[in-house]
Amino acid sequence: TERIVIVGGGLGGVRAAERLREMGFDGQVTILSAERHLPYHRPALSKQVITGEWHPDDARLSFDADLDAEWRLGTPALSLEPDRQTVWLPGGEQMKYDGMIIATGVDARTMNGAPRHDPRVHVLRTLDDAVAIKNSIRDSQGLVAVIGGGFIGCEIACSVRHLGRDVALIARSPQLLGGVVGDDIGKTITDAHRHHGVRLATGVGIRHWVRQPGGIGIHLSDGQVFFASCVVLAVGASPAVEWLRGSGLIIEDGILCDATNHVVGAENIVACGDVARWPNMRFNGALRRVEHWLNAVEGGRAAAENLLIGKSAAKPYTPVPRFWTEMYGMRVQGAGLPVLGKDTTDVNGLTGFIADGKLVGLVGLEAPGRIIVNTPELFRQNTVELDRPAWTKPEQAPA
Ligand code: FAD
Repeated sequence: TERIVIVGGGLGGVRAAERLREMGFDGQVTILSAERHLPYHRPALSKQVITGEWHPDDARLSFDADLDAEWRLGTPALSLEPDRQTVWLPGGEQMKYDGMIIATGVDARTMNGAPRHDPRVHVLRTLDDAVAIKNSIRDSQGLVAVIGGGFIGCEIACSVRHLGRDVALIARSPQLLGGVVGDDIGKTITDAHRHHGVRLATGVGIRHWVRQPGGIGIHLSDGQVFFASCVVLAVGASPAVEWLRGSGLIIEDGILCDATNHVVGAENIVACGDVARWPNMRFNGALRRVEHWLNAVEGGRAAAENLLIGKSAAKPYTPVPRFWTEMYGMRVQGAGLPVLGKDTTDVNGLTGFIADGKLVGLVGLEAPGRIIVNTPELFRQNTVELDRPAWTKPEQAPA
């Protein structure tokens, strides 16, 4: 019988597996996962798991009970030989595949100069990381320092304030989330952190770290010093592609795919989720990775379909990426690729991101209805001109 091997047992991997079965694939499905956990809901880690609102088990993802997959937990793929359709596993084990879906996601980055192997210093990507952070906060008394003003850093700072603990949020850019959500919403988020008592240090770098028995001194470029009993580095992530070095596949900020999820230069291999970089034809072929939950779901399903359909008949994967984040009871939603934008403009109360006269992204604060109403119209095909009627379309969605 045929075997499809899915490398990565996270969100993209499990949704791809489900789609294979829905499409009627009745061969063997093997899911290799570096982690020892069945798939779980990663967005909850920085939110409900750290605050303790959810027990770690509550974060488990539900999936098709009849999936009939072989789960190899705690079994990372170590290397790949595409020509032999073989993946190498620990202990010298070789596994043959007829088709492969790569869904290895990303790994949290660390920082040059930050203390390594210090139990008070953490990153956040996995359930084990989240539990370690939670315990480290519980077992310490002083300041919690969060480094990084992106989504995950902001969410962690909010969660730690929720626990009533002293928090410093240290970020290189002058405004939190600035580049990703636009200046207005970035300012609202920055103000909210301040209002809720987060000690903000923005527009600064870290000059050096001093480890002491009672805590870690963080010396900033503007002369400020924070002394923290727990540190979380939230400074971005890099694609989990180390195992593909030497495979001959093209690794450039992720694994390079064509427009239909097929890995360039390989037969019968597709990729999805955070690790996949592909040209999205809806955005004039912009070559990007997308690190959002919904892209792992939609991309996982599309990759599974396109693997079964085969390269020659495969359909382009052209999603309108969407994301959300939440802090202090506020929800920010986004659609498209705001990162491509060079300017912003108002679109029915949303921040619209413009590149070359075309709308490429939308971000709204507490405006899910407007995002839903505006998204399909504005991204109908290959991005649209600014003067399309969609711009004046009144809000229709229920509150
Ligand atoms: P992952 O879910 O990371 O799964 C990849 C799996 O592959 C991992 O288990 C990994 O261990 C495993 N793996 C890696 N290498 C190997 C190997 N060589 N062999 C075998 N297995 C391997 N998105 C939003 O849209 N909204 C949010 O609010 C939001 N919040 C988030 C909060 C946090 C703390 C984090 C970390 C992410 C958040 N995201 C959010 C992003 C979202 O969770 C990801 O986009 C999504 O999980 C990506 O799915 P994936 O399957 O590509 O990768």
